[in-house]
Amino acid sequence: MGVETLRNVAVIAHVDHGKTTLVDRLLYQSGMFRNEDLDKLAGGALGLIMDSDPLERERGITIFSKNCALRYRGGDDREYRINLIDTPGHADFGGEVERVLRMADGVLLLVDAYEGPMPQTRFVLSKALKLGLRPIVVVTKIDRSNARPYDVAHEVLELLIELGADEEALDFPVVYVSAREGRALAEPEDRGGDLQLVFDTIVEHVPPPRADAEATLQMLVTTLDYSDYVGRIAIGRVFAGRLECGEVLVAGGKGTRTLQRVQELHVFDGLGRKQVDSVPAGEICAVVGLDPVDIGDTVTCPDDPQPLPPITVDEPTLDMIFRVNDGPFGGREGRYVTTRHIRARLDKELRSNVALRVAPGATPDEFHVSGRGPMHLGILLETLRREGFELCAGKPKVIFKEIDGVICEPVERLSVDCPMRCQSAVMGLVGKRRAESVKTYSRGEDGGSVYLEFRIPARGLIGLRSRMLTATRGEAVMHHVFDSYEPCKGEVPQRQSGVMVASQTGTVTTYALDALSDRGVFFVRPGEEVYVGQIVGELGSDKDIDVNPVKTKHFTNVRSAAKDDGACVKAPREMTLEAALEYIQDDELVEITPSAIRMRKRVLDPGERRRATRRRGAGKVT
Ligand code: GDP
Repeated sequence: MGVETLRNVAVIAHVDHGKTTLVDRLLYQSGMFRNEDLDKLAGGALGLIMDSDPLERERGITIFSKNCALRYRGGDDREYRINLIDTPGHADFGGEVERVLRMADGVLLLVDAYEGPMPQTRFVLSKALKLGLRPIVVVTKIDRSNARPYDVAHEVLELLIELGADEEALDFPVVYVSAREGRALAEPEDRGGDLQLVFDTIVEHVPPPRADAEATLQMLVTTLDYSDYVGRIAIGRVFAGRLECGEVLVAGGKGTRTLQRVQELHVFDGLGRKQVDSVPAGEICAVVGLDPVDIGDTVTCPDDPQPLPPITVDEPTLDMIFRVNDGPFGGREGRYVTTRHIRARLDKELRSNVALRVAPGATPDEFHVSGRGPMHLGILLETLRREGFELCAGKPKVIFKEIDGVICEPVERLSVDCPMRCQSAVMGLVGKRRAESVKTYSRGEDGGSVYLEFRIPARGLIGLRSRMLTATRGEAVMHHVFDSYEPCKGEVPQRQSGVMVASQTGTVTTYALDALSDRGVFFVRPGEEVYVGQIVGELGSDKDIDVNPVKTKHFTNVRSAAKDDGACVKAPREMTLEAALEYIQDDELVEITPSAIRMRKRVLDPGERRRATRRRGAGKVT
């Protein structure tokens, strides 16, 4: 098959803007489902196809980029192959965004007909424009009662202008879609029965790959997959020449060159892969047999090797300490608990998680792990925990960078959607954190909600989410994304409140919590086991105190024992991993195990901790 009938399209969409639903429907309409798949669709499995990792589904984002391919008979009666390349939905995965976009010749930009373009969309879109990819705008969910499809299309135009798109990119086609109803239209009011317009628009507006089939073989490896049967699988695009089974040269970014043998070649077909004999320039394929192979490597011809420039990846913006869980409960709940386990796992992660960096920490039990943002590192920790790891993590810190002799810090773009009445609370909160307002507009039919956009130092985001939820009674929805490095903006307030730290190890009692209940809120509940140095609650005041949450009552008579049983304790504040990481201070750690998230002081012993604090205090004076 020639490449004139091939299209490589990256799909860009904000979380929940309907990507999965649309791709499912496109696959369905291209007749690529077998009957059992149809049954599954009818049974509600719809939506589980592109995003298959359970963690991804939960977080509603795509972490790993996947491909699928559609077949489509065009108006000219030729059969087209459309490779759909999924892009990560969050900019913390910036590294992945750039490399997967390298496989595409055009992008499909999905935007919800009510919500309009979001900051994440902006980030990925700017990367796509830089690579010269032209967008097709798909306004999704036009069947929503509050849909405002024309406004949204106009907002996309404004966004493209803001991003400095050229004339050609600004002249984008728009398709209005309801994936739910399986309809794609040129105008939202039109009637129509299927999604054919999406296929036609791709075929017409995305150029076929420009590739020289006669030149020396060059395939850029952009993703890695792994199978227990065949080992590493390299996925990428053939930029020139033709890839066939047999000998090739794998040229690595660090100057390594190894002669290896391609054993099997596959192209994408529907949601699966199809084995082929050779792959022409322009195609995206999966190669079995290459190992060692890494992201960014070029697979080229041994006689006349022509490596492609390595992929550049955005630098990390956030740093965290990972270390062995040396608390008294260490090793109780996890399967992999030693420094050696953690190091091996991080090494493995580094092989495919390109934006991640790992460096030795202050002690042999510690690692500095840096990444693109709280979500990037949070997901890694959550993954480790689910795999059975146990470890501790320190407070996330932004990475400062010296640019032209000036110390700069990462600044993010923050968007907040909230009811109008919460606007001033939100402004107050972010204002203290040195945010500057970029955009504000009201929306919703009655104008009852507002969309606020800010630029805010990344430091100011740490701990913001929980405060935002408290300040707006859970009604604000916030998203943020890296924007740029800028000269440091000065102090950003830290956690104001002190904490209650357990002075005894044991089982938390109702009696003890009841007695402490007017001091603040707890993170633990009666019956839970705690240890010396664990953070068990938050105080109203700003100094930490040691408390005994395991104290039992001396039963002097039957009546008071009965009273103790009846004592009722306020429900504890549940801390998710993300919330705990945002909550802790420099002298604290989050303990992460498969079954628990605990917060603790770095130094557990109260006496030692006081001495350490004094030393630090003394250090400050000098
Ligand atoms: P993704 O996160 O971008 O993959 O989004 P999904 O495809 O999972 O869709 C997010 C939500 O929007 C789900 O609840 C879908 O049922 C809903 N949705 C998707 N497409 C449509 C549509 O065309 N119309 C309406 N009304 N809802 C839709």
